[in-house]
Amino acid sequence: MTAEFSPLKSIVIVGGGSAGWMTAAALSDALGKACSITLIESEAIGTVGVGEATIPPIRTFNQRIGIDEATFIKETAGSYKLGIQFVDWARKGHSYFHPFGQYGAEFDKVPFYHYWMRESLAGTVDGPIDEFSMCWAMAKAGKFAHPEPDRRKIQSTFDYAYHFDAGLYAAFLRRFSESRGVKRLEGKVVEVSVRGEDGFIEAVTLDGGERVGGELFIDCSGFRGLLIEGALEAGYENWQHWLPCDRAVAVPCAKGPEITPYTRSTAKEAGWQWRIPLQHRTGNGYVHCSEFISEDEATETLMNSLDGEAQADPRTLRFVTGRRKKFWDKNCVAIGLSAGFMEPLESTSLHLIQYGILRLIALLPDSEMSPLLAQEYNAQTATEYERIRDFLILHYKATTRDDAELWRYCSAMEIPDSLQYKMEHFRNYGLLVADERELFANPSWIAVYLGQDIVPQRAPAITEMRSSVPVAERMQMISNAMTQAVDQMPPHADFLARHCRSPLAV
Ligand code: FAD
Repeated sequence: MTAEFSPLKSIVIVGGGSAGWMTAAALSDALGKACSITLIESEAIGTVGVGEATIPPIRTFNQRIGIDEATFIKETAGSYKLGIQFVDWARKGHSYFHPFGQYGAEFDKVPFYHYWMRESLAGTVDGPIDEFSMCWAMAKAGKFAHPEPDRRKIQSTFDYAYHFDAGLYAAFLRRFSESRGVKRLEGKVVEVSVRGEDGFIEAVTLDGGERVGGELFIDCSGFRGLLIEGALEAGYENWQHWLPCDRAVAVPCAKGPEITPYTRSTAKEAGWQWRIPLQHRTGNGYVHCSEFISEDEATETLMNSLDGEAQADPRTLRFVTGRRKKFWDKNCVAIGLSAGFMEPLESTSLHLIQYGILRLIALLPDSEMSPLLAQEYNAQTATEYERIRDFLILHYKATTRDDAELWRYCSAMEIPDSLQYKMEHFRNYGLLVADERELFANPSWIAVYLGQDIVPQRAPAITEMRSSVPVAERMQMISNAMTQAVDQMPPHADFLARHCRSPLAV
């Protein structure tokens, strides 16, 4: 006999930033008209609106809900992103690239980067491993083309994501969601009513007096966590001792002559500065730790290092790195900044939103709202946060900079055992022990290890046992193929102009 089943009839989303509208878009696509979806947002409160850089899985999200790439880039004044250039992180005057894609190409049972490590330690290859990344080869030449599906070609070894204007993105998703039946209510939530008998959220009341009831509430209200924390007091796990930055000052500026197909992150005295090129402007921000720099100094540093004239007043955002202790509590699921924030260094926030939504769809409750589903959702989400957290901490920990207090603090700080374990494997044996389900796979870890001057004592043992493989010859062939492939690609600006030029482009 099957259990009685009573599907959800109403979902209420509180918040209309990227999290709210991504949730509305994906739920309306997945549930169709089977359930009413209402989104409440307040123009008076506004959004964070600075999430402008993404990682490749965003493409899967767009494809899943049927968003065409060219339309998406055009409507969000976006550009392509092949990875992140990290400047001055390991030490001043040094830079490396974290690419979206693999290094070299596979020609044996042993991964390319392990052979590269063997040759590099033996002194038979010069230069950084970046030289074998298609993403970096394209990025430094300012080129872009889509990857090719034929896995025998070097053009199949890279991946890409997007930069876009977060305000235009929310507006785009709003049109998308409203056309699929999502109802939007403008207003400020002033009260959250909780049922006496079980502590479930029953309704929210807007400043105009309207009471909006629902069965499932999604908290997309941003850092304040209006429902998950304000009403349910789910608690917050603070990670500032590992990820100490707690402020960002952000400002858009006029676009420079080049539209680079990558994000730049430049380490500064008390944090780091982002540079994100869009078709109509460049996004900039200085993420910093308030213990080591004043807001005025941080703003001055940012304003003195822009590509062009500032297009708005600089805006400071405050945050506490960490995560909600429960992401799903009773009949409320926190998605977006209300769920946690680990700082924007590797552009993972929109990704966490995307996976929060997909996980919710996979574990969608019925009106019984089983705590077992919440338990599974919370366990999976916590693991995902922790894996990303460790990858971010690595950037701060693995620095040789000792010119400023922040960097001295970070290089000396205790790190999670999970990260320590990974670093020991790499340092001692050149081995990568990222779990296969990790968002950041082996090439990402190796990019940051090597980029931040962690040199392994030896290459993995297997590389020494395959002396008959003609590694040097294969590496030369790969290098030649990369040069030829990049030569034939169009400049990024031309690619955008031809396929997805925004009406706002300058
Ligand atoms: P918000 O944008 O804050 O939206 C909250 C919504 O809730 C708003 O619509 C607001 O009006 C509404 N609201 C709040 N209270 C009420 C109320 N009482 N009544 C009604 N409505 C209410 N992510 C990336 O992936 N890449 C990046 O490059 C990136 N850069 C970032 C840089 C910085 C400095 C920061 C702080 C974040 C960055 N992020 C980035 C994160 C990204 O901006 C957010 O994850 C994303 O925008 C989602 O935010 P949100 O929708 O959760 O919150």
